[in-house]
Amino acid sequence: MTPGIRPLVAGNWKMNGLRARLGEIKRVADASDALAPNCDLLLCPPATLTYVATTLAQDTALCIGGQDCHPESSGAHTGDVSAAMLADCFATHVIAGHSERRADHGESDDLVRQKAEAAHAAGLIAIVCVGETRFERENGETIAVVGRQLEGSLPVGATARNTVIAYEPVWAIGTGLTPSLEDIGEVHDFLRQRTETLAPGMRLLYGGSVKPDNAGAIMGVANVDGALVGGASLDAGGFLAIAEAT
Ligand code: PGA
Repeated sequence: MTPGIRPLVAGNWKMNGLRARLGEIKRVADASDALAPNCDLLLCPPATLTYVATTLAQDTALCIGGQDCHPESSGAHTGDVSAAMLADCFATHVIAGHSERRADHGESDDLVRQKAEAAHAAGLIAIVCVGETRFERENGETIAVVGRQLEGSLPVGATARNTVIAYEPVWAIGTGLTPSLEDIGEVHDFLRQRTETLAPGMRLLYGGSVKPDNAGAIMGVANVDGALVGGASLDAGGFLAIAEAT
């Protein structure tokens, strides 16, 4: 945690979630007001559920976000969703540059930056993801890789209010593996140092196999201001337990 920075616990449902799962969003929404004094809560369901999710979260402390957006606001891009469309569904945040997007769709740092800038243009908060592969970590390149991704992906005009950075080591996502607390701290200290002059107080999330039983320790690391949670966010109980540990 960082004194003076309000934590954010964000859930990324990825390509999971049919309407039958909306009850989980409702449960988180119902519990969100009680957690609001301690942290902000965000769920990013698939785009098909965005609108109904925001109606379930209406008048509660739970925010709803998108998982990706196109850099343009509209046009001939079959299958894509724009930041303006997410905002039109009352979403407040959007993830940009998740490693699965970078890997599956070949997204470059420059494209991620454009997406984050599109998010800002639509009035959304951009959650920009960075993180090294296992190979890069084993080669001692973690800080260089994260630094390069940050430099290339950070939107022009980023502030602590409109941008959040999520450090997500690729090898920790969905594997049950996490870096040591020291290793998380090293990257977060670096990110703080890099963002502090540009955007003081920017929230720096950790993501990658965050679960109820490790969340407290990870959130206790200096300069970790919350979590981006994948698998454990699909279940309201697990997600709320992580928020409580924050
Ligand atoms: P995980 O995913 O919590 O399932 O490891 C994290 C993420 O991809 O954001």
